[in-house]
Amino acid sequence: MLQVDLHCHSNVSDGLLAPAALARRAVANGVEMLALTDHDDVGGLADARTEAASIGLRFVDGVEISVSFEDITLHVVGLGIDPRAEVLAKGLADIRSGRRTRAEGMAAALAAVGIAGALQGAAAFAHNPRLISRTHFARFLVQLGASPDVNSVFDHYLVRGKPGYFAHRWASMEDALAWIAGAGGVSVLAHPSRYRVGRTKMERILSAFRDCGGVAIEVVSGTHAPDKLRELARLARRYGFEASRGSDFHGPGESRTDIGCSQLLPDGLTPVWQRFL
Ligand code: AMP
Ligand code: MN
Ligand code: MN
Ligand code: MN
Repeated sequence: MLQVDLHCHSNVSDGLLAPAALARRAVANGVEMLALTDHDDVGGLADARTEAASIGLRFVDGVEISVSFEDITLHVVGLGIDPRAEVLAKGLADIRSGRRTRAEGMAAALAAVGIAGALQGAAAFAHNPRLISRTHFARFLVQLGASPDVNSVFDHYLVRGKPGYFAHRWASMEDALAWIAGAGGVSVLAHPSRYRVGRTKMERILSAFRDCGGVAIEVVSGTHAPDKLRELARLARRYGFEASRGSDFHGPGESRTDIGCSQLLPDGLTPVWQRFL
């Protein structure tokens, strides 16, 4: 089976490595096909593609779009997109401007519990001033000594019911999938096991995703517990989804799974990457 990693982040969003460095790390780890999928921004794709071409790595243009569905946030990965497509660029620009307002709200919520200067603090960790995420706030909180590492920040801050949380409305599922389709790409539901939902809601998510034109789900994600694999493979078969595989790598020392190092896709599924061969 082809060694693919179809989900990772560069410093254009909340990853730690530059796009070209990510391509080199992928090859060093044995990856044969890579998609860069930064949150809500396609600014790293040109550099990653150029580097990939020079080192013989197959490259797929990607993006990870933040979506609000009912009362939760979902992530949808677009693969094989044209980064220059107007409809996608416009949608992503709107999400990024919403991120700015949200970051101000998060900083105010942290100030209310005595943590001052969080907007500037988070921005100092953001390589791309157009994209500030909770990860950048988390790095700032680690720097302050509020938590020992980025992962544990999310146990005590920045999530619903904890200091620094600020509710935000992202794109609708319909819009996100229309932007991806409008840019010639296919939509993949990212890390389904990360959503804290029961069975009925998961079925609503998957049905709505399919109805909006979604074609695949991440059966393998570096952020899933390994024992979720069989259940996700079953869901993919039941709904007729193709299967994707990605590490969701953000950076050395920060991510559990290195680029290219997630579980293998189980047999009997249609790999979404067949479309990009
Ligand atoms: P945002 O899009 O600004 O809400 O930030 C979401 C990002 O925060 C995700 O893409 C992850 O990189 C990070 N994140 C969210 N939850 C966790 C968690 N429990 N542990 C580590 N990182 C997390
Ligand atoms: Mn992230
Ligand atoms: Mn995600
Ligand atoms: Mn991701």
